[in-house]
Amino acid sequence: MSNKSKTLFTKAKKLMPGGVNSPVRAFGAVGGTPRFVKRAKGTYLWDADGKRYFDFCGSWGPMILGHAYPKVVRAIQKQAAQGTSYGTSTENEIVLAELIQEAFPSMEKLRLVSSGTEAVMSAIRLARGFTKRSKILKCSGCYHGHGDSLLVKAGSGGATFGIPNSAGVPDELAQLTLTVPYNDLKALEQMLEKEGKEIAVFILEPVPANIGVLLPKHGYLEEVRQLTQKHGVLLLFDEVITGFRLAFGGAQASFNIKPDLTTLGKIIGGGLPIGVFGGRAEIMAHLAPDGAVYQAGTLSGNPLATAAGIATLRELKHPHFYQKLHQKSMSFFGELDTWIKKRGAPIQLNRIGSLFTIFFTESAVFDEASAKTANTQSYSQFFHHLLEADIYFAPSQFEANFVSQAMTAEQLRKIAAVILKILTRLLV
Ligand SMILES: *Cc1c(COP(=O)(O)O)cnc(C)c1O
Repeated sequence: MSNKSKTLFTKAKKLMPGGVNSPVRAFGAVGGTPRFVKRAKGTYLWDADGKRYFDFCGSWGPMILGHAYPKVVRAIQKQAAQGTSYGTSTENEIVLAELIQEAFPSMEKLRLVSSGTEAVMSAIRLARGFTKRSKILKCSGCYHGHGDSLLVKAGSGGATFGIPNSAGVPDELAQLTLTVPYNDLKALEQMLEKEGKEIAVFILEPVPANIGVLLPKHGYLEEVRQLTQKHGVLLLFDEVITGFRLAFGGAQASFNIKPDLTTLGKIIGGGLPIGVFGGRAEIMAHLAPDGAVYQAGTLSGNPLATAAGIATLRELKHPHFYQKLHQKSMSFFGELDTWIKKRGAPIQLNRIGSLFTIFFTESAVFDEASAKTANTQSYSQFFHHLLEADIYFAPSQFEANFVSQAMTAEQLRKIAAVILKILTRLLV
């Protein structure tokens, strides 16, 4: 069983810290040998031993169409034959920017970068440059990439490994990052009353998905918009996961809230490295070369990434795309929900659209503290039982899982039955 993955992991550990290029891939949170993947198609991953898995990780979000989607593959192949990077402007950057703006009208101007981390770092610098304020405010448990200022109470990695802050981030810098619990308007109001005049921007995942999925309480996001406006604090929605996931226009369309700045990534590159930040034209005017806030990138707007992104977003634009995806997801979640309620099982299924987390806890999960009540040992057992049944979930309790368009209702019905069988065994 998974012999090749074992051999590869041993080899990789000699070359790369932890044997990986991104920490959570090492299975540290669930134990066991991480699978080395050789290929993927539609809903499936194949590991180095040729074993096939039904994939709910979806590369942590980007693969909303499923793996190796033919139109995306063709777009990448066609572009590769015409060159992979020019260091000049290209028409496809405009095409992608127009598609993004059509979905996110709040992004009056935008800039392409090469990762979600880079998008957030750049947007924060811009917010500071625009407001001439130094402090930033974030929610505990929200993840915004690994920029120094954002590695404070930053969700899954920290939650999983018990590292609240990263070593290497100077205290002097971390002190400029203030935090409030998600879904807590009182804490936000108090913070803004006290520190508002020094805070450049309040950054949050409108629907957090990096401590597992959390849902905003009724009216929370509306109130967040009003309070930030009142204090002259910019509002940045980090929609790197929720953008083009919850709806074509992301969480801001679903909840009808207009942030000042937005960051996107993951889906908009169709599986290639990309990020984008944008917002009010008045703010974006402060960005170089128009303004004094510097930001740049050798591979920004990369031709392969824009080609894959355009091909992906064009599919998502089809009428009923999200309706169909959400219908499938809802039936799947419905079967799990019914069982959980009937059994009175100590499980919370947090879900929205095609995004979900199964938390092993009795109490409702709506912020970092309540997420931490989850039993990570139960999750690890659940995860490994799923793996044995050829189902690949995120290798941590504190992550989101994704339903993709490639999954059929029939497949999801069968998977739901397998999941319930595993849960029954686990909970006796
Ligand atoms: C994944 C993620 C990021 C970081 O994006 P990378 O491409 O991994 O750098 C930032 N914010 C959120 C909300 C994310 O989910």
